Amino acid sequence: MANSAKTCDIAVIGGGPAGSMAAIRAGQLGRSAALIEKNFFLGSKILITGRGRCNLTNTASMDVFIKKFGRREGEFFRSAFFSFSNEDLMEFFRAGGLELKVERQGRVFPVTDKARSVTLVLEKCLKESGVDVMYGARLLDIKRKAGGFTLILKDGVSITAKKVIIASGGASFKATGSTGDGFSLAERMGHMIAPLKPALVPLKAKERWVKELQGVGLESIRLTFHYGDKRVVSEIGELMFTHFGVSGPLVLDASGDAVSALDKYKEIRMTIDLKPGLKKEQLESRLVKEFAAEGDARIGSLMRNLLPKRMIAVFLALLNISQEKRANQMTKEERRAIIDALKAFSLTITGSLPIEEAMVTGGGVSKNEINPRTMESRIAPGLYFAGEVIEGRAPSGGYNLQQAFSTGWLAGEKAAESVK
Ligand SMILES: Cc1cc2nc3c(=O)[nH]c(=O)nc-3n(C[C@H](O)[C@H](O)[C@H](O)COP(=O)(O)OP(=O)(O)OC[C@H]3O[C@@H](n4cnc5c(N)ncnc54)[C@H](O)[C@@H]3O)c2cc1C
Repeated sequence: MANSAKTCDIAVIGGGPAGSMAAIRAGQLGRSAALIEKNFFLGSKILITGRGRCNLTNTASMDVFIKKFGRREGEFFRSAFFSFSNEDLMEFFRAGGLELKVERQGRVFPVTDKARSVTLVLEKCLKESGVDVMYGARLLDIKRKAGGFTLILKDGVSITAKKVIIASGGASFKATGSTGDGFSLAERMGHMIAPLKPALVPLKAKERWVKELQGVGLESIRLTFHYGDKRVVSEIGELMFTHFGVSGPLVLDASGDAVSALDKYKEIRMTIDLKPGLKKEQLESRLVKEFAAEGDARIGSLMRNLLPKRMIAVFLALLNISQEKRANQMTKEERRAIIDALKAFSLTITGSLPIEEAMVTGGGVSKNEINPRTMESRIAPGLYFAGEVIEGRAPSGGYNLQQAFSTGWLAGEKAAESVK
């Protein structure tokens, strides 16, 4: 395929949720749209979301969505979220023949429990909207030309388009195709890129003993991150120990702030409240009773009422208490030490896994240079952005995919409306 040339009204870069939705909307409004995707299939990253089940949105109000992206920063997405809300998204998929279900904390999944059902609806809608989907097509460069842009693809293919929407995703899980191309393309078009960093990423701990706890999961716990004088307390949730540190929903959600804090502090203290439903006094009276009732029992066995079995040895070793000690031999100080550690089990966070292993990329094309009402560049008219390529991330729960779908929809609509 050498030197072939195509022309379209709108070229969309990236067949993820943002790009697919942008192309669908542009096609629905009667524009000729080309969707340029380097993979040979659609939505490679969608297929691994929600552990293959795709948590595509959340039932929370749009105001909650905005706050999830940061009290001030989230305002940028207001127009996009209200132009194409979670209700609109759910209706879009239902109209496409996919029933949805709501799970804990308002997380929305397809009833099939298969992310592939989501990409099937997108494929169907792209077809119905008359979008020219170009698979195996990697965009290398964008050049301005009179009345639009020339797009240079691999293999000498070029396309001319009146408008271009960059929806090429972030720079994490690169095997999915999201290799950060959009950042360099945007930079070459004159855009500022807010520093890229991992977000929704497991954290590394200094303590060597974490290795011994690899695979141990904790439920109904609360985390506190200690940044200098500041304390940031999480909701109640789950954590998982890994061979290098900690992961799991609570850690991933807190990781964006932790990674930013690690720019300033070399280490951060993280404490785990293993019994957030009980005050210290309540734990004290519980232990006093249990130790009295089972005076001959080994403390290692008694702790099974309070901790996962695999955690007990490490927990007691850190307090210098032998597992073999009998309950009736425990001193008041030792009992207090157990209670203190149950309420604030401490780890030292020293870093995170790299951006490649983060669920989303922090940073990206600076929001200040994008018009939030249209997603059009303030630097390069006719160029639009959608999805993860734009700076600003939310915790897990379906918020990031809704951002991609909403900004994609808005960019597709506004680009289509502006075509003369
Ligand atoms: C393991 C994991 C689980 C996740 N789970 C969830 C979840 O359950 N819920 C949720 O809300 N979010 C989840 N996310 C985040 C979510 O997947 C992203 O926020 C979302 O996919 C971003 O959409 P996007 O369209 O902007 O980019 P992407 O989905 O990354 O799509 C970008 C597309 O652009 C293509 N592309 C890139 N460069 C070029 C180029 N030069 N030429 C042509 N094509 C190009 C890529 O191949 C890719 O297909 C998860 C992420 C990961 C990694």
